[in-house]
Amino acid sequence: MSDVQPIFIGGEWRAGRGKVYATRYPADDTVNAELTAATAEDANEAIEAADAAWRRPNWRDIKPHERAGILHRIAGLIRERSEDLAQMQRRDNGKPITETRALVASAAGTFQFFAAACETLEETITPPRGDFLTFSINDPMGVVAAITPWNSPIASEAQKLAPALAAGCAVILKPAEITPLLALELGRICEQAGVPKGVVSVLPGKGSIVGDAIVRHPKVRKVAFTGGTTTGRALAHAAAEKLMPVSLELGGKSPTIVFEDADIDHAVAGVLFGIFSSSGESCIAGSRLFVHKKIHKEFMQRLVEATKALRVGDPVDVKTQMGPLISSSHRASIESYVELGLKEGGKILAGGTRPTGGLYDKGWFYLPTVFEGLSNNARLCQEEIFGPVLVTLPWEDEDDLIAQANDSVYGLAAGLWTRDFRRAWRVARRLEAGTAWINTYKLFSVSTPFGGLKESGLGREKGRLGILQYMDQKSLYFGMNENPLPWAEVGSKH
Ligand code: NAD
Repeated sequence: MSDVQPIFIGGEWRAGRGKVYATRYPADDTVNAELTAATAEDANEAIEAADAAWRRPNWRDIKPHERAGILHRIAGLIRERSEDLAQMQRRDNGKPITETRALVASAAGTFQFFAAACETLEETITPPRGDFLTFSINDPMGVVAAITPWNSPIASEAQKLAPALAAGCAVILKPAEITPLLALELGRICEQAGVPKGVVSVLPGKGSIVGDAIVRHPKVRKVAFTGGTTTGRALAHAAAEKLMPVSLELGGKSPTIVFEDADIDHAVAGVLFGIFSSSGESCIAGSRLFVHKKIHKEFMQRLVEATKALRVGDPVDVKTQMGPLISSSHRASIESYVELGLKEGGKILAGGTRPTGGLYDKGWFYLPTVFEGLSNNARLCQEEIFGPVLVTLPWEDEDDLIAQANDSVYGLAAGLWTRDFRRAWRVARRLEAGTAWINTYKLFSVSTPFGGLKESGLGREKGRLGILQYMDQKSLYFGMNENPLPWAEVGSKH
């Protein structure tokens, strides 16, 4: 077993006060790293240090271009170490190496983007309404927390850390207990890039212990959370007690719609990528597939054939399209959904089982699975499975299709495949989703806001104004009148 790694508390690398625990590689269940969990006491220490650190002149008073310089250095260090980080993330959560390389590149791009946002953010002079000048300015909120899930570590962490640092905040980063390594590396990179001591802390550990302590701490001014809807709701309740803003990126059950005029080659590839990349462990997975009745049979034949040909295997191999699932308990939960689908009257067209032999017997692999014969009311169509399970639903009437697509507690994303631009515009406008992809799926750009509707979340991340999520708006009035107010007329007669 490897040595116990330190964690990053208030600018010091040391053991947390919690249990020593091991993280494991999902492809073969070997130990990845041993580290200590942070406790509520560690959280208090980190938050107190952060509260002092963000007020110091070396962080509070530096100019936007200087802060941007630090963010550029972080981006540069991520790029210098990109292969290292990609391999680390592959072991951390078992994603194929091609995916983790892309995530690392996107994390570097996120820091670069928010460096630019920081350097170019303008404050405004508002229109005069009297003998005064009015300004609307933005101040850093202070200590903010970023709480992230296990499915895309470095990308979801960068998505919060970069805008928060760009805003001038101090950040308490709390990665998922089982995938802490990339967050800790980001802590090291921030330190190397010149982020002052105490401005960033990284506290791995249990959500119910260290996560809860962070959320409830009076000095934490905002929490940016990505994770499950149930956790997000609990967190929002705790935040309401403190009247603290939260941004919540939560679960999804996204519809993908194929129209009768779709380019079938593009649609088949896009649907497969939309649901089966990241082994379906993706909030935006296109897990409900609506195919027009006219082409349903032909489309499904192509899709099922292509599903069976997907390369499930060793995450090290650049040809691998689907790696293992995150853990044995998560695979068990997916298996119970597959059993449920059969009980609900569904028929399996592909997958529905574990692959066997060699590496397959050591890790948490599961075959990409396609169901038909279920209605949109089935639990398989209403609940987030967070795994490689697709349900196909034929449709005929556009209004009915939209009603079914919107009949979900979630509203994170949607996909449309059609050659008809007017129809794409019309349908995309009517879908209740934070993001709709047209003739593509699961593309991401840091310059474009992202977030969910309904139980998929609150608030938006990314985009140039994503930096404002970590700032308080403040108004300044400068009196310009040459004469004093008529309130202290010393010597005047009453
Ligand atoms: P989770 O909700 O169990 O955990 C997310 C994070 O919250 C972890 O760091 C966890 O330790 C922490 N946490 C748990 N309980 C807490 C508490 N009481 N107080 C504070 N923090 C607490 O989610 P998960 O299983 O790690 O991730 C999967 C979920 O994340 C899925 O539902 C998925 O859809 C969602 N997700 C959403 C997005 C998005 O952008 N919308 C992206 C990725 C994942």
